Amino acid sequence: MTAGPALLRVEDLAKSFGGVKAVDGVSFAVDGGRMLALIGPNGAGKSTCFNLINGQLRPERGRVSLAGQEVTGQTPRAIWRAGVGRTFQIPATFGSMTVRENLQVALASHARQLGRFWPRLRSLFRDESQALLEQVGMAAQAERACRVLAYGDVKRVELAIALASQPRVLLMDEPTAGMAADERHALMALTRRLVDERGIAVLFTEHSLDVVFAHADTIAVMARGRLIAHGAPADIRNDAQVRAAYLGT
Ligand code: ADP
Ligand code: MG
Repeated sequence: MTAGPALLRVEDLAKSFGGVKAVDGVSFAVDGGRMLALIGPNGAGKSTCFNLINGQLRPERGRVSLAGQEVTGQTPRAIWRAGVGRTFQIPATFGSMTVRENLQVALASHARQLGRFWPRLRSLFRDESQALLEQVGMAAQAERACRVLAYGDVKRVELAIALASQPRVLLMDEPTAGMAADERHALMALTRRLVDERGIAVLFTEHSLDVVFAHADTIAVMARGRLIAHGAPADIRNDAQVRAAYLGT
């Protein structure tokens, strides 16, 4: 598909909690401009995979690489600086601040991480925040406090905040949790557009199979810490093992 190493590659990742093998030998890769859905029942090990990738957890075994560069075992901050962004299931916006201010904080934080001179950049944040707000369709609500926004709009702001650090890889753990079906599709369609424009590699989890089959390029299915299937949506839909273990048909 693309020349060179995948933007995100995990190989043989493993992590146990006590006697539970939460993640047990998981491997997959995501190229730039592609969206991989990691699906599976509750407790399958999806969030643990995310935590192993972004450095919140240290793998017992296996490797994580970004564009061919290994980052296994580095701190979350180092991995974030290397280009791995993340959105959270529970909104992490500042409710009393406006949408624009939330983005300015994110942009300032990113600039500081890069060691850029703050006062000179300050004036730029207005333009940068405006550009991001337009990209996620939130420009008209820029001066509203986040706490008064509709839930789906908070999710758009969260996406813009994640993009503020210009990630090469974006991890989205249940980005549409709590949203109505049409909002779910709208958020993933927006994500798709941004992925196309920026060439980001996206790894996401999602409970609604409807949304998964509509928006993922590739699907990886986990059960009890292991990958039981991995392929194009059409192949996953017809995989007998997946149907039995997960789709319940
Ligand atoms: P998923 O996101 O697919 O629902 P998780 O990765 O959250 O699954 O959990 C996988 C397994 O690991 C579950 O059995 C869960 O109880 C266990 N687990 C996850 N995080 C921890 C933790 N911090 N401490 C102990 N057990 C954990
Ligand atoms: Mg989870």
